[in-house]
Amino acid sequence: CGIVGYIGYREAYPIVIKGLKRLEYRGYDSAGIMLFDGNGLKVSKTKGKVSDLEEKSKDIATSKAVIGMGHTRWATHGVPNDVNSHPHLSNSGKLAIIHNGIIENYEPLKKELINRGYVFKSDTDTEVLVNLIEEVQKKENFKLGKAVQVALNQVVGAYAICVFDVDKPDEIVVARLGSPLAIGVGKDEFFIASDASPFIEYTSNAIYLEDEEMAIVRQHKPLKIRKIKDDSLVDPYIQELQM
Ligand code: GLU
Repeated sequence: CGIVGYIGYREAYPIVIKGLKRLEYRGYDSAGIMLFDGNGLKVSKTKGKVSDLEEKSKDIATSKAVIGMGHTRWATHGVPNDVNSHPHLSNSGKLAIIHNGIIENYEPLKKELINRGYVFKSDTDTEVLVNLIEEVQKKENFKLGKAVQVALNQVVGAYAICVFDVDKPDEIVVARLGSPLAIGVGKDEFFIASDASPFIEYTSNAIYLEDEEMAIVRQHKPLKIRKIKDDSLVDPYIQELQM
């Protein structure tokens, strides 16, 4: 399983697809991609290989979107099929998430969300998390980063996640616990991936998130890393990758 994200000025589609191919060695059963070009979310996902995804996503491949997220799934909750593939959208259709890992306590969280009127399309634990984030956002009127943080503090399990909000299209919120997450830091652009292989030709500066850290990856702004539990700021430690 693997995750790839991009926010910057280059076309995101080829970067994400190529990145997913480099992460294929990690193993997976499905693949998906989300692009945002200012005109709503474009999502394509499928059971099978990244090459199947390329075939299926031809209609969005020409998008000039400069924001994108891609995922290879190793199913833990819900069989491998198109619907259970990531990205998953929240009920409003405004939030998109990709997730590697497991939300152990998804059942009680899902019940509570259903009681509040949420509807689920997939059998995944991940769709519960994206709707939990949406619920926190709505209830508390929090910005995306804060809502992700509050939601993650209610979660038991493991994750590397990227979350995107169409109402906050200059940022991707990422977080990690138990699953790897690297951020490639370029000039006016950021890459996100399970390891540095998807972005080594673009930048040699990488930050590896530690467990229980989250980051708001924002175009044209310095990266902010925080501890999920106590909200304290962490100084980003940038590693020089050997090219
Ligand atoms: N638990 C999630 C799912 O089954 C993510 C699996 C993964 O790590 O790819 O959809």
